[in-house]
Formats: sequence, structure tokens, C-alpha cells
Amino acid sequence: MEPRPDRSAWLKGGEARCTPEPQPRERPWRMVLLGAPGVGKGTQAELLAGRTGACALSTGDIFRAARSLDAGERSPALSQALERMQRGELVSDATVLVIVSERLRCLDCKGGFLLDGFPRTLAQAEALDQLLEREMIGLDAVLSYEMPIAEIVARLSGRRTCGKCKAVFHLAARPPRAEAVCDHCGGPLAQREDDRPEAVRVRMEAYEKDTAPLIQYYRRRGLLVSLAADGTPEEILTRAVAALEALAPRVAPA
Ligand code: AMP
Repeated sequence: MEPRPDRSAWLKGGEARCTPEPQPRERPWRMVLLGAPGVGKGTQAELLAGRTGACALSTGDIFRAARSLDAGERSPALSQALERMQRGELVSDATVLVIVSERLRCLDCKGGFLLDGFPRTLAQAEALDQLLEREMIGLDAVLSYEMPIAEIVARLSGRRTCGKCKAVFHLAARPPRAEAVCDHCGGPLAQREDDRPEAVRVRMEAYEKDTAPLIQYYRRRGLLVSLAADGTPEEILTRAVAALEALAPRVAPA
């Protein structure tokens, strides 16, 4: 198996490059993943990355990576973004768009991309359209992972994330082999601050108000692929690959 890029270009922005550089693909996949927090989007992004060779790019990961910087190393905009994130609120469109614009290299990457957590508002979706149009990049599909909200809230309480490599586990559905230790890199597993109950409530409200309208936005553009998000991660992946094959039989991930 090819070594996976470390996503430095995405996590750090600016001049940072990935190690190794992503493999150019004859037909790179460029997709957006939509779904409420906790629906399993991050896990699916990682699994799809393994199948398609495209990089899983999460805006939430950029903010989490920035948290380990010293306060002096953070711009005022980034510090404000982190405060909003800790409360479970959305970061402002302006801040998110500056951050994504500093990472255009990743959207233009010849390995493709899977955007997870961006866009999250109509304003962000419109700005993404403009960025892609300017770079002459087309989106192949928007995968929408769907599940009743009550089920999602129950799931979030069991989610644990690796502090080092960001792999996601679930105490019941996808437990690590050793308690609180990442299977992949041995890093410590912890509950994200924004997975605490009060932050979860705020995040769900933000999703319903700001992000759910994107389903209609992309449906109108003929890009939406709706997927039931129940079952094991592998079952959901199989469902997504079948839907992508139906969309483009010759180019879907092998
Ligand atoms: P996630 O890992 O995608 O659930 O993101 C975690 C948190 O980061 C969110 O609850 C927001 O506070 C912030 N965030 C990530 N992406 C965005 C975005 N595209 N727009 C606004 N806030 C975001």
C-alpha cells in the first residue's frame, strides 16, 4: 500500500508541503462530505481516502492542530476561532475562508480531495464554488451521510479521538484494541472538548440552521449523493463506493 501523505499542507497551510507528496492520479476524486457532527463523516473520509487516494481534509482538524500552538504563535483570528469552537459554535465564515484560501494547493492537488466539515454554511459553499471555478476544478460529488439526530447525539458521547494521528474510535462501535490507546500510532485517545454534552447541543443547532440547507444547494446542482449512515463503517463505505460506481462506473474507486 502507498504511504499516506501526512497532510502538512492542509494542517499548516502557507508553504508547508506534505510528506510524502500525494501521488498524482489519472482521475483524482474531488468530493465534499456532508452530515451532522457525529454521523461518522470523519471515519468515512479516512476510509474513502484509502480507497480513492484522495486526501481527507477536515477544517476541524486545522483548528485542533492550532490548539497545540503557544498563545503567542496564534493570530487573534485563530484564537477567537478556537474559543468559538470550544463552545461548539461555528467559526465565522470570514475566518474559515481565509484559512481555506491559504490552502488552495490542497484543492488543486493532483491526488484529489475529500472535504470534511467544509463548507458548512451557504456562504462557504458559494465561496468554495468561486474558488474552484477560478482554479478550473470541478466537484465530482457531494456525499450526504444521513441519520436521525437523536441517534447521533447518543453516538457522540462514545467517540474518542487520537491526540497524535487524529484517528477516530468509538467505545461501543469501533473500540480500540487497548483501552484509551490508538491502534495506529499508540497515541492517547481522548474525548474532544466539543463532544461534551453542552457543546453537542449547540453544534446540532448550528447544523440544523446553517449546514442542513447545503443538502438542497448541492441537490439543485445535481451533485448530491444521499447515503444512509447506519451500519458498520465498512458497510457505509461499501454503500458509498456503490453509489459512486453508479455515478461514474469507469472512474469509481477500485
Ligand atoms: P468538526 O471536526 O468538523 O466537527 O469541527 C469542529 C469545530 O470546528 C466545529 O464545531 C466548529 O466550531 C469548527 N469548524 C470546523 N469547520 C468549520 C467550518 N467550515 N465553519 C465553521 N466552523 C467550523
